Amino acid sequence: MLRFNDILDRLASYNPNADMDLLRKAYVFSAKVHLRQTRLSGEPYLIHPLEVAGILTQLKLDVASLATGLLHDTVEDTLTTLEEISENFGKEIAQLVDGLTKISQISLRSSEEDQAENFRKMILAMVKDIRVILIKLADRLHNMRTLKYHTPEKQGEIAQETLDIYAPLANRLGIDWIKTELEDLAFQYLHPDIYEEIQRKIAKKEKERSRYIDEVKRTFMKKLYENHIEGEVTGRLKQIYSIYLKMKDQHIDFNQVYDITAFRVIVNTIKECYDVLGIIHSLWKPIPGKFKDYIGLSKENMYQSLHTAVIGPYGERIEIQIRTHEMHKIAEEGIAAHWKYKEGKAFNEADDKRFTWLRQLLEWQRDLKDDAEFIESVKVDLFPLEVYIFTPKGEVKEFPVGATPIDFAFSIHSDIGNHCVGAKVNGKIVPLKYEFRSGDTVEILTSPNQKPSKDWLKFVKTPRAKTKIRQWFKTEEREKSIALGKEILEKELRKYNLQQTKLIKAGELAKVAAEFSFQGVDDLIAAVGYGKLTVNQILGKILPQERLEQKEEQEEGRLKSLIQKITRSSPKDALLIKGIDNVMVRYAGCCNPVPGDKVVGFITRGRGVTIHTVDCQNVIDDDPNRKVEVEWDSTKEYSYPVRLRIYSEDKKGLLAEISSSISSNEANITNARVDTTDDKKAISIFELEIRDLNHLKKVIKGLERIKGIHRVERMRVETQAES
Ligand code: MN
Repeated sequence: MLRFNDILDRLASYNPNADMDLLRKAYVFSAKVHLRQTRLSGEPYLIHPLEVAGILTQLKLDVASLATGLLHDTVEDTLTTLEEISENFGKEIAQLVDGLTKISQISLRSSEEDQAENFRKMILAMVKDIRVILIKLADRLHNMRTLKYHTPEKQGEIAQETLDIYAPLANRLGIDWIKTELEDLAFQYLHPDIYEEIQRKIAKKEKERSRYIDEVKRTFMKKLYENHIEGEVTGRLKQIYSIYLKMKDQHIDFNQVYDITAFRVIVNTIKECYDVLGIIHSLWKPIPGKFKDYIGLSKENMYQSLHTAVIGPYGERIEIQIRTHEMHKIAEEGIAAHWKYKEGKAFNEADDKRFTWLRQLLEWQRDLKDDAEFIESVKVDLFPLEVYIFTPKGEVKEFPVGATPIDFAFSIHSDIGNHCVGAKVNGKIVPLKYEFRSGDTVEILTSPNQKPSKDWLKFVKTPRAKTKIRQWFKTEEREKSIALGKEILEKELRKYNLQQTKLIKAGELAKVAAEFSFQGVDDLIAAVGYGKLTVNQILGKILPQERLEQKEEQEEGRLKSLIQKITRSSPKDALLIKGIDNVMVRYAGCCNPVPGDKVVGFITRGRGVTIHTVDCQNVIDDDPNRKVEVEWDSTKEYSYPVRLRIYSEDKKGLLAEISSSISSNEANITNARVDTTDDKKAISIFELEIRDLNHLKKVIKGLERIKGIHRVERMRVETQAES
């Protein structure tokens, strides 16, 4: 049985300056709080944390990790609080213990292949410090070693989870011996019959097997000696689980699995690795397709070795791994080796970018001065840009950090997204803006009355949700515009005794649409509704000039008095652009900013700086690198164009009232257009020159006071929404 002193000895062997007192204190603390607890085996509970710490010494981990190994179950299984751990052992150890407690609280439900991958990622996303995972692996390893005390049902569950989640994690972190042992242990409980059968068959041949291994080893050593290479050779039986996989994958039985012995040659330099390979291949016939160069092209978990298989003595297939001591250390300790491993090695870009974070860790480590700094940097999220949540059914979904219920809702279906009113997270109702945290169980709440709001665009994180929300608005506005456009057009056409439906049937409007480069008649009519196109522009394409002019004269008579054209002063100088002088300034046609609006500048190619209002939809998605800060210069006075849409009754004298209201507020009218509808309503569009936002507000207030006016709105031109 492992004693505490053994742990101290092992720690001293690889880190003589470690804080042994801290570890002693952790031991005493753990012994005290676990005092009367026993494991299922009937042994004192303390054996478990001791063994876990013991496994961690094999990974040569630091004192904080070993202490955490001793304390890892205190918060979960005793009355100890995290605060007590923090008071007694400091923040670092408290955070490690907290990480372990959190992992043990998520239930890893599904065992489906793709789900297992997500669970593994979720674990990685949840811990802020990679040591938490290493300690968790040690914990799981000891639990697997003592699994026999559980009920068969529990054994199966834990073994499956180990095979799905923890063995692959050990593999990803490059800790080969933990991976191997976890797999064999799990396999033993999942398929006890097959496990025993393979074990029995191996045992039967054991004597003959070990004689064979000795013989091959002697041959190896002799050859190394002849070639003046200093090295170690070990031979072993292959792992039971990998023999099983081979039998299963190739549909063969045990007697047909020939390469059940594996050898490992460890030498000093990379050159010697290739030398040894040459020696082996000239000694025994290599099996085609079995040579793999993981030195030239290392695996994502930074594993390096040469692998080959040959037809050895007596025609038996053997597998051989060749590596340096350094590579061996990495294969055994995995990620743990890296913060002690000082020489930066260039690793090739693997095609599989999936776990680049591991390589990233190595990159960081190269620039960092000491281990503590490295560990500090690893504490930053392992998956900094993703969160993992559960659906009510227990599936795991991946989202970008900051994602909200709306993102989730749109990932299911647009209909669910459009009607999302919130969510239940871990049973509690949360608002739409709630940001997911890894491990949350999320259920979306919908209501048939809900519809998307422009506000949503400000906080959703997934491109899918953004696109779908914009699409919804685009469709809605378009429908409205088409309805409005139809009404306006119909009414105007009637003045010339024309009918819209007939024009459409005759293909006339389609022709006009093509002439204005619209996709079709609907787009043309929508443009009238949006105010982008006037009915007169359309009529100009359909009717002879004289008929139009007649009519136009009448129209003009109505409007003439309203319009005073003025020469515009250049408003350019009214803006101060930070850090830039003498640039060309344009005001964006989509939002027509005026002084007082919050504005932002965008550097355009060859056209200087374009000024938008900050809430302009075209700006929100634009490249932030091209943004410049701009401010209004309040000392100067200029005028700016704005467009107002006025909804009113179609009533005599109203136009005159509008125009006098506008001029009494000292604004110039530069253009106006009035459309009337069948039900005695009028929609007028006025282009004005105003000084600033306050001036505009005054003008609008003035208009709203007029009887018969229903609504006044500042128009912003909708540009093609990108999808
Ligand atoms: Mn434990």
